[in-house]
Amino acid sequence: MAIDYQAILETIYQEVQPLLSQGRVARYIPELSKVSAQHFGMAVFCLDGRRFTVGDAQTKFSTQSVTKLFALSLAFEREGDAIWERVGREPSGNPFNSLSQLEYERGIPRNPFINAGALVINDILAQRFAQADMAVLQFMRVLADDQKIDFDRDVALSEQRHAHRNTAIAHLMKDFGNLRNPVDVVIASYCRQCAITMSCEELAKAGSFLANHGSIPWNGTQILDYSSAKRLSALMLTCGTYDVAGDFAFRVGLPAKSGVGGGILALVPGELTVVVWSPGLDAAGNSLAGVMALERFTTLTGRSIF
Ligand code: GLN
Repeated sequence: MAIDYQAILETIYQEVQPLLSQGRVARYIPELSKVSAQHFGMAVFCLDGRRFTVGDAQTKFSTQSVTKLFALSLAFEREGDAIWERVGREPSGNPFNSLSQLEYERGIPRNPFINAGALVINDILAQRFAQADMAVLQFMRVLADDQKIDFDRDVALSEQRHAHRNTAIAHLMKDFGNLRNPVDVVIASYCRQCAITMSCEELAKAGSFLANHGSIPWNGTQILDYSSAKRLSALMLTCGTYDVAGDFAFRVGLPAKSGVGGGILALVPGELTVVVWSPGLDAAGNSLAGVMALERFTTLTGRSIF
């Protein structure tokens, strides 16, 4: 029997309501603290063209670390396996903004989804493109088939003014010779990249090439080959939700990438993308209601990679 995605989204929407007041909106980027924790949106984008949404699925939010997935896709597409000389592929087991491993691992970040790794990817893109952040933005516009997607300049500046920890990470990597561009250039570009705003619906569409083994489902454009898409999906599963990726795999069972704006993009390979947004975060920095919503989604649909 066909899965009634709309009915499932509506059930989840009801179920998560009591959770919306339990998460805490990110405050270390002051501009993000202005967003209400009461938002909840969810969008499903099926590769066969069907779409389903509930709640605030059309409201734009700060995509933050979800952009790390797109920046990595672009860098991997351009540079291939050369990127692995500068960034690893193992879960860090540490918070996304931690400095500690970087010191004893000599400036090579554990993976491209922690801040250190994303700064290196931004630096790699800056060697290829005039402006790394513009390259990521343009890439996301193509993937979402929407030229209006843009940065939120207030969020970018707000993060840049408070980017002490990311700047420290960048300096440490520069000292180890793992950053080619000036620290302030990389930080400014990274903050703008993180400040790209999109809705659940737009992100679900933009990420669909990964669920479709590397090709844009509606026009067949190949962004990544089959094997590269598989590899990025594997990294999402092992490293995409910070230091709780193991628990996320246990509870949800899908490759996913989260951001401190409260968005999570997840894939059912070969079938669909599902994006959830709710700005209240848990202790690890993942959307509290978002993780629960995805857990319910895989339970109610019977879909996961396992
Ligand atoms: N821009 C944020 C930061 O660097 C992104 C972090 C995140 O979403 N986990 O802290």
